[in-house]
Amino acid sequence: MATETRLATSTTYVLKRIGLAAAAVGLGGIILLNADAFLLYVVGGALAIGGVAMVIMPVVVGFGGIGPCPICGSILESNDPSQKNLLCKGCTSYIDAENKNLRKSSEDRITQVPVFAAPTPWSDLRLVLSPTIALSTQDYVANLLMSKKGSVRMLPAQWPKACCVCGKAPKKVEKYARTIMVPPSGIGVRDTETVVAAEDVPYCEAHSGGIQFDTIHFSNPENDAAFAILFRSLSYRNEFMRLNGWSWGA
Ligand SMILES: [Zn+2]
Ligand SMILES: [Zn+2]
Repeated sequence: MATETRLATSTTYVLKRIGLAAAAVGLGGIILLNADAFLLYVVGGALAIGGVAMVIMPVVVGFGGIGPCPICGSILESNDPSQKNLLCKGCTSYIDAENKNLRKSSEDRITQVPVFAAPTPWSDLRLVLSPTIALSTQDYVANLLMSKKGSVRMLPAQWPKACCVCGKAPKKVEKYARTIMVPPSGIGVRDTETVVAAEDVPYCEAHSGGIQFDTIHFSNPENDAAFAILFRSLSYRNEFMRLNGWSWGA
């Protein structure tokens, strides 16, 4: 493939956006007309304004569209002409759209929050339940791991020997854990709650809290979802994938 490809505005893409916008305005309108509480006015108003914005925004910044991945040729969908960090389902590369050109994201990119997704060995996992862990993280994690002992899954990962945020020499390790729902294997069986966890995550002195387990969406037109471990550093994520060799499957 060429190192750079182009986004094209597709009719299905535009229709999908207009349909979504109309649905948001319609739903917002219905809520506003029937609202009898302040919160409902807020929700209805937000939906209606959001719907209108979905139509106005593309007119201002231009429509996104679909185009072939410059690495593998799989079709990618971008919501605007310059959307960063699109995740290709075909080759798991990160791709940037810039003025409708698609090219590989820069390997040295580091985001403020964990964004770059890598597969885990747990293909049965689905929804992430608990809110993002914030206060006294390491205490929270320790408590969670203790109290949920029986239903904890520890990620059997090999960690690249570098801070998972900035790539400097590691000076400490951290644990991470999150509660999620596991879908049932049979019909009529309820979801079960489990804790997914990671330990020995390497950090330099300055960094901490740089990973996250979450459900992610690929940037293909179908918007397929998968369970992933997210990193702030793209190069660390790539190295993690090489070391562990897990995949999201076909
Ligand atoms: Zn690709
Ligand atoms: Zn660091």
